[in-house]
Amino acid sequence: MSIASIIFLLVFAAAVWWFTRNVRRIRRNILLGKDVDRTDRRSERWALMAKVALGQSKMVVRPVAGLLHIVVYAGFVIINIEVLEIIIDGIFGTHRVFSFLGGFYSFLIGSFEVLAILTWVACAIFLVRRFVLRIKRFWSREMTAWPRTDAGLILTFEILLMSAFLLMNAADHTLQGMGAEHYISAGAFPVSALLAGWLGFGSMDASTLIGIERFCWWFHIIGILGFLNYLPYSKHFHILLAFPNVWYSKLKPKTEMSEMPRVAAEVKSMLDPSIPPPAPPAEPAPGMPPEHFGAKDVFDLTWKSLMDSYTCTECGRCTSVCPANLTGKLLSPRKIVMDTRDRLEEVGKVIDAKGKWEDDGKDLFSRISEEELWACTTCNACTQACPVNIDPVEIILDMRRFLVMEQSKPSPSLNAMFTTIENNGAAWAFGPDQRMKWSEE
Ligand code: SF4
Ligand code: SF4
Repeated sequence: MSIASIIFLLVFAAAVWWFTRNVRRIRRNILLGKDVDRTDRRSERWALMAKVALGQSKMVVRPVAGLLHIVVYAGFVIINIEVLEIIIDGIFGTHRVFSFLGGFYSFLIGSFEVLAILTWVACAIFLVRRFVLRIKRFWSREMTAWPRTDAGLILTFEILLMSAFLLMNAADHTLQGMGAEHYISAGAFPVSALLAGWLGFGSMDASTLIGIERFCWWFHIIGILGFLNYLPYSKHFHILLAFPNVWYSKLKPKTEMSEMPRVAAEVKSMLDPSIPPPAPPAEPAPGMPPEHFGAKDVFDLTWKSLMDSYTCTECGRCTSVCPANLTGKLLSPRKIVMDTRDRLEEVGKVIDAKGKWEDDGKDLFSRISEEELWACTTCNACTQACPVNIDPVEIILDMRRFLVMEQSKPSPSLNAMFTTIENNGAAWAFGPDQRMKWSEE
């Protein structure tokens, strides 16, 4: 085995190990949430995933961004099929190992090149929209320095990867034409052949071209492995989580609130003495916080809400249709989801550092204010708009439940309603004896 193959194997193994470690960490964090069963109506779930995640049906509601995103997504996924060949070549020291596919190989490489240039252009347009045109939803309050940098980095990175791929092919194509040793004639190069002409590759000597080809080959594969390991630290983890997140979507009507089985059992027992009261709640696992009514911290949200938080693409489509946000209220559903993820990461770091959970004196309310929570009208426009079926309303409602049921802190308007329900058995400030008075007028 050559030195280059050994180096390649070491880099590849290290990248896979680090990525696996981070994925396990994120999985552990998601499983800190409460259990919820989202495995019913399986055929409906598969169909939904095919439509929303694979077919990107919600992305194209905004056609320009949607189509550009489909190009980048297809480019990223399909071109990376070619990574399989790079890995085999890297390990065994071969060159274009799939070239035995003949005409089909030429078709593949040619298609990859067209997709690569389209992805390049789409990423450049995305950068211009974000940083030159400064589209409003990319510059709102929660889009602080890191989310903006993250988006810029990933787009730049994809442009660099596509450039390396095309440059590598351009050098390879020229070397094939020269009959250079090792560079067997294989593939079709509709884009890189043009690039080779513009860059004057034909007038360069073979050793320079081999240097360019090898540099781009290593840049491309190390870049892809680096990209893979960047994902768990970035909103771009949605590339991996979008599919399961859509599969586990809430299939019940959007406005239907989740049940609280203990509370329901207690009410039933109060109304019907023949029903025994529910057993007291189980003791929390050692080191874990006690169970709450509603959500005080990430432990009280469902694992699906936590998965939602890691799936958020920070696109801001939810906030851009939120009536509360549009009328100048503090609420931004995107911020709710991002804050949940940031808090979950914070909790995960404590567990990593101490080996178990130790109260750090913070919770979701350290990031999300009551004013934001009570601004929500529960219209669900945000869940409808989200391209990966995230449900910010569930987080909002669970946090409100905690405020009402454990802190006795409903919003002032709800307080008035609670009082009238208590006194009059209805939401209106009239006694039951006065209800029909309107009919006498
Ligand atoms: S449900 Fe709440 S957060 Fe979502 S769009 Fe409506 S008001 Fe905004
Ligand atoms: S919750 Fe959905 S719509 Fe809102 S920013 Fe995240 S991915 Fe976009």
